Amino acid sequence: MLIVGGGLGGLRTAEALRTNGFIGEIVIVGDEEYQPYNRPPLSKEALSSGLSHDELKFRQRDSVADVTWILGSAAEKLDTDTREVTLADGSVHSFDALVIATGIRPRVLPIPGPTQGLHTLRTLNDAHSLKAAIRPGCNVVIIGSGFIGCELAATATALGAQVYVVSLDDQPMIMPMGADLGAAMRKRHEEKGVTFHLGHTVTRFNGGTHIESVTLDSGETLPADVVVEAIGSVPNTEWLRDNGLNLDNGVLVDSNMRAVGSDLPIYAVGDAANHPNRFYGDQTRRIEHWNMPTETGKRAGAALAAELVGSKVPTDEFFALPAFWSDQYEFQLQSYGLPGAASTSKVVSGEVDGPCIVEYFDSTNQICGVIGIDTVKELMPYRRKFLESMQS
Ligand SMILES: Cc1cc2nc3c(=O)[nH]c(=O)nc-3n(C[C@H](O)[C@H](O)[C@H](O)COP(=O)(O)OP(=O)(O)OC[C@H]3O[C@@H](n4cnc5c(N)ncnc54)[C@H](O)[C@@H]3O)c2cc1C
Repeated sequence: MLIVGGGLGGLRTAEALRTNGFIGEIVIVGDEEYQPYNRPPLSKEALSSGLSHDELKFRQRDSVADVTWILGSAAEKLDTDTREVTLADGSVHSFDALVIATGIRPRVLPIPGPTQGLHTLRTLNDAHSLKAAIRPGCNVVIIGSGFIGCELAATATALGAQVYVVSLDDQPMIMPMGADLGAAMRKRHEEKGVTFHLGHTVTRFNGGTHIESVTLDSGETLPADVVVEAIGSVPNTEWLRDNGLNLDNGVLVDSNMRAVGSDLPIYAVGDAANHPNRFYGDQTRRIEHWNMPTETGKRAGAALAAELVGSKVPTDEFFALPAFWSDQYEFQLQSYGLPGAASTSKVVSGEVDGPCIVEYFDSTNQICGVIGIDTVKELMPYRRKFLESMQS
């Protein structure tokens, strides 16, 4: 059993394989030098306080204590004819079954100019180099106003930086939250000193070898000691090309996370898996939420173990509630479902500029998500109601 990708999805799949009775060898290949660790703190407390891998790593369960780890080398090529994966270090690994758990990487823009001072944030090493760069009083330009951009804005502000957020969107986090809640979140950031340049992008980095300022498409120039690109993601699937898999948006899989387009037992999980789910209706989606590597990993592990031992593979629909949280300053936001797919929304408790709960509805007026800000307990009945509406 070969699992490629040493993150949460790879780990949870290995655990589920064991739970479901697979006793064969499991090898996990990862391009980072670390065993799986928790990524959400990287834009939050790991950035502000500099947490180590020891503090972030997932607890190793006894069931996977015998896994063989090959770390620090990326998979470069899959060959389904020979059932082999070749790594960057030249080693070749054969497999009976393969799990793709390679996640995503940050998208970057082709902006001309110097690159020293330019960062992205996905890995622990990224967080360490960003932490070393952000000094009190320095100017930090964040390109992108999604969740990661906004969490970074909050953390860099708390570290004493002057933060500018540049984004093509009309409001921060508009895609997952809608314009009203986005505008309210913008106000909360502005009150902490963040400056937004919405409806704009960066066209040039200026300076010698190190970035000193950025030029916007409006012609305006912003001072910049540190620039972070947080403009979305690209699935890590290039190594899978030319094997008949559908790689249009991650790896297309069925309800058991089994890859479409190959007869071999090839599965995909986590951020890289473009999967069906009752919550998505007729569509398949890649969902970059922390709970999805666990949900898809559990499902893939159960189905793959059954396929390998010849027992009954699950046939029920995949039904896993997408769940997300975000911490910015002292605010805690929680989201369930797919608020980003909504046509309308309604504040059902509180006000958007304080603790509140917002329900989201699709074009048929069906509830498709709920978001709460600073309402951890109060949100639970709304979450339950939403889940029940999906079950009926
Ligand atoms: C800064 C940050 C903050 C986040 N905050 C939140 C949050 O608040 N709430 C929330 O719900 N979610 C959050 N997330 C998202 C969540 O962490 C991800 O959804 C989750 O980590 C995805 O797990 P995964 O196993 O699919 O991918 P990953 O965790 O990315 O693991 C994939 C692993 O595979 C490796 N890899 C890639 N290509 C190859 C290759 N060719 N060969 C070998 N290895 C390879 C990668 O380097 C990585 O180690 C955050 C993510 C980040 C980066």
